Formats: sequence, structure tokens, C-alpha cells
Amino acid sequence: MNTLRVIGWPSVGGRWSGATRRLVGVILALGLVFGARTAAAGVRVVATLPDLGAIAREVVGDAGTVTVLSFAAEDPHYVDPRPTLLVPLSRADLLIVNGMELEVGWLPPMLVNARNPAIQPGGPGYFDASTAVARLEVPKGPVARSEGDVHAQGNPHYAYEPRSGAAVAMTLAARLARLDPANAQGYVARATVLKSALLAFATSERARFDAIPAARRTVVSYHQSLTYLEHWLGLTRLATIEPLPGIPPSPKHVAAVLSLMKGSSAVVVQEEYRPRATSERLAQLTSCQLVIIPGGAREAERYLDRLRRTTDALHAAMVE
Ligand SMILES: [Zn+2]
Repeated sequence: MNTLRVIGWPSVGGRWSGATRRLVGVILALGLVFGARTAAAGVRVVATLPDLGAIAREVVGDAGTVTVLSFAAEDPHYVDPRPTLLVPLSRADLLIVNGMELEVGWLPPMLVNARNPAIQPGGPGYFDASTAVARLEVPKGPVARSEGDVHAQGNPHYAYEPRSGAAVAMTLAARLARLDPANAQGYVARATVLKSALLAFATSERARFDAIPAARRTVVSYHQSLTYLEHWLGLTRLATIEPLPGIPPSPKHVAAVLSLMKGSSAVVVQEEYRPRATSERLAQLTSCQLVIIPGGAREAERYLDRLRRTTDALHAAMVE
């Protein structure tokens, strides 16, 4: 197994200058040379997010390479569209996206610039992993995007939950088997092993959390990213610090969250990449615990180990 990590150029923001566009041409040309040299390396998979990359690494095994476009310490809604990311995109046989518009703020222009027909939406090498999972918080009516809600297609943070991860692994194996029939058996066998481990973990962790008194199984999350995890572990969400997904908290909203938290034993939870000042202040004022959870699997970390880091941190705070 060979895992590639893309080293970023300095940020160029959402719009590329003329100089950057010329640079992109050079990078793509270099990518074609590099790609030709490594054509024997097997199937080339690109995943937008670290958790999807971690699942893919286990399913692909030694049959190819997996490149991840973002870091665990980056907000998946707002990944820096580094021009160097075009190299793996231009060469990819399969692109795995989280979907449900999680990457809508940064991926679409990159796909256009990568000029790889196979991985365009609807193409044989485009895999929207959200099609494999039971989606939660899907709006029943239209959502006013002017309000800034970044979860307009439902809650996209399903990778926090191992049953979703298992479903993604199995669907991914089926896609890879179609793209690369010679290695089909290996993809399905590895995905099946991962699925069994994830489902066993889902059951044992639920039992571990069920043993905690219900009043302590309460969370206040910064972003509305714990929904799937709450369903899995039987947690109750008291409030979110962002009034809507993607909208920074106003003083009025923070005051409302504070009054909800008073007298509770809620745990304040946020990812490593979010601003901490408000969470820290709320935890301090209420004597509640603040838990910083991973934004995703670290480089070369197994998906199950990333999930365990998350649940261990939550469990420790709730039983203290
Ligand atoms: Zn979100």
C-alpha cells in the first residue's frame, strides 16, 4: 500500500490569478509525466477527506494508491484548494467524495481544472460515498441558503459513525471491483473484514455508553457535526454553539446556550480545527468539560482507531 500526501502551495484562495492558472498548467504537465512513470502502481484512488481516505486505504490494500486532498486539521467545508491537488485529480481512476454538498465550497472548480473526464460527477470514476449511507437531517422543504446553512442537503458528517463507514467500505469495494476486475476479490474481502470490525465496535461502544447515566450522556456541540455519533451512542444534544451550521455564534445565541447548560452536566464538544474561545468560556462558566475531538483520521491512521480516539475522549469526560 502506498499512501501519498499532497504538500500544499501557498493558499491562493477561492479564485486563481492568471499566474496561478499558468502554474496549474505546469503542474498538470508534470503530473502527466509523473503519472506515466507510476502507471504500474495499480488503481489510483483520490479521497477528498481523511476519513474516506482511511477507509479507502484498507479496501485498496496493496492493489493501488490512495491520495487524500485535505488534512484532519482542516474544516471539510472549507478546504484550501491548493493547485498541487490537481496532480492526483488529473491522474485518478476513482475519486471518492463525501457528498451532501460537504465539498461544494472548494471541489467543483478543481474538478473542472483537473480535466479528467472519468472523475466528473456521473463519470465511472466518481463515487459519492453518501449514496451508501442512511442520511440524517435531510430537510423536508427548501432551505434558504441566504441564511448561510451549509447543511442544505442534510447532515453530511456521517463518517463519525462506524456503521456508515462500513456501508461506505462495502459500496466502495463494489465500485473498485467494477473498475479493476482482476483485483475484485481482494477489494471485497478487505472491505468485509473492515465492515465486521466496525459493526462489532459500533455494538460494544454503544454498550459502554449505555452504562453511563443518561443525564451525563449530554453534549453541546460547536458545529452540528455529531448527529450520527449521537444516534449511534445514545447521546442527547442540548444545543449547538453555532446557531446554524456554518454561522458563527452571536453573543445573544451564546447567552441562550449558557442558560441551557446551567445545572446540566453536558460535555462541550468540538473538532480540533474550530475556534475554541467560545467553547472554553462556556465550559468555564458552567464547570462543564470541553472535549476536542479529531477532525478525521491522521495520516496512515486506521479509521477504527480514529473513531476510538473520539469515543475514548467523550467517554472519559462523561464518566469523570
Ligand atoms: Zn457541517
